[in-house]
Amino acid sequence: MSRKYWIIFILVLIALSLTGCSSLTNQGEGVPWKPKPLWLTDGFDFPVGNPDGKGWAITGYGFLSWSTYSNSYHPGEDWNIPGAGNGDHGKQVYSVANGEVVFSGWNSALGNVILIKHAISSEDFVWSQYAHLDERWVSKGELVARRQPIGTVGRGPNNRFAAHLHFEMRKEELPANAWPRTNGAAWARSKVTDYWLDPTAFINQNRPQ
Ligand SMILES: [Zn+2]
Repeated sequence: MSRKYWIIFILVLIALSLTGCSSLTNQGEGVPWKPKPLWLTDGFDFPVGNPDGKGWAITGYGFLSWSTYSNSYHPGEDWNIPGAGNGDHGKQVYSVANGEVVFSGWNSALGNVILIKHAISSEDFVWSQYAHLDERWVSKGELVARRQPIGTVGRGPNNRFAAHLHFEMRKEELPANAWPRTNGAAWARSKVTDYWLDPTAFINQNRPQ
């Protein structure tokens, strides 16, 4: 067959397969096909306060601060309403971007934790993690939108901490309870940055257009 006929042949095949699909859908159980419009990100907001983080500040450990509490580099940021003490307990925490909840549960070190996977392209992902939560409002497998309330600020296991949000951003897949330490020994700073991102720097570089 000439090239022209091959093209026509392929177009007819495509047309047939499209018709087949739509008639199958119509004959189905009546379950509508649901697109996943929330899968790709359209920018990043801050997890507490206004979308630009105003009204809150990192008054606890910052990214890569040396934490004497955990004897390691602190892989995220501790967010508070400055001067509020425990007055920020129960305030809403928001998903920083569209994504899929990959963990929502309890962890003896961090308390209530939510881990969300965000597609920044069809192949590239980052993860945001929210810890010491009082309440969790989303479950594993759920798609969430940027700025969707996902839970509230808490105090960690047995009210171990003054109320604050421990917030991490990661560029590699890690379990929810991951901490940059192996057998009690802290990871080197450069190894921490192989896995974790500077949250504020990343969000500021990726604000919605
Ligand atoms: Zn922290």
